[in-house]
Amino acid sequence: MHIVIVDSSRVILKVVAGMLEPRGHIVSAFTDSAEALAYVTDNPRVRALITSLEVRPLAGLELCWSARLLAEASRPLSIIVMSSVRNARNLAEALDSGADDFIDKPPGAEELQARLRAAERLTSLQSELIRLAETDPLTGLLNRRAFLQRTREAAERARSFGQLSAMILDIDHFKRINDEHGHDVGDAAIKAVSALIAEEGIAGRLGGEEFAVVLPGKSLSEAEALANRLRLKAADLRVRGARAPVRLTCSLGVSEWSEGETVEGLLKRADIALYEAKTSGRNRVVSAMTDLVLSRTG
Ligand code: GH3
Ligand code: MG
Ligand code: MG
Repeated sequence: MHIVIVDSSRVILKVVAGMLEPRGHIVSAFTDSAEALAYVTDNPRVRALITSLEVRPLAGLELCWSARLLAEASRPLSIIVMSSVRNARNLAEALDSGADDFIDKPPGAEELQARLRAAERLTSLQSELIRLAETDPLTGLLNRRAFLQRTREAAERARSFGQLSAMILDIDHFKRINDEHGHDVGDAAIKAVSALIAEEGIAGRLGGEEFAVVLPGKSLSEAEALANRLRLKAADLRVRGARAPVRLTCSLGVSEWSEGETVEGLLKRADIALYEAKTSGRNRVVSAMTDLVLSRTG
């Protein structure tokens, strides 16, 4: 497990790290609590934070609180407070500030290992629940809710630097595939198309046979080029059917985010472009015009 420990004393840090590292844990030690918080924020692999109460510049309880907010944003993290003064008030304050557990400082090696085993069980369970809540079971792509959440985060980052484009992809005449070849072949077609987009940017299944990809850092023309490559790849797919391989095509709508636009606006424009691709003959890519930008907020 990747563990961050925070204490003002390098001796304590060394003692605790000395108990953890030989057991295979990766330990990052900090005397500065603000640096520790920044490190935990930037490194999603950190699964446990062990902090003393007397740390600076953020006091231990503040650090617990900030780390708890991170953990609530769908991030598995166990927070353990370490103190040489174990009294009811300290304990209650630590737990109320978001800590999961409380240990003596310096901790006994055996107790520390046992507490971390409990933390590992809890964070593994948390991480599995987060995965299940975010994943579409048929394709393994992000589900609609998680896709929108990731897209909002990406748009937030794009606000400060750079571009962002989106595409919505829909399988053409999918009902026919289901009707002519059965639901299982329909499912296999959905999986085959999702495999084409899985590695491209932020990819989600919006529902049925409709997918979306958000491409941070990509311009409209780059997104269009990718959409066309995906369209050709989809047309090359051969899905195993009962009698013969089943072929399919896809239509795609592409849009580029512009400053001040909401994520909903960006996707709405891609959806309008997709509708145009459908009505103008399918198996094609249509780009949304930027002068159609809807719902500008600022
Ligand atoms: P268009 O070219 O206009 O997109 O036509 P279409 O037939 O692809 O679109 P329509 O929205 O009419 O049909 C989508 C169908 O997808 C209807 C629904 O029964 C089917 N469907 C939705 N989810 C699943 C699924 O998980 N598996 C399978 N096999 N079919 C699904
Ligand atoms: Mg369709
Ligand atoms: Mg559809």
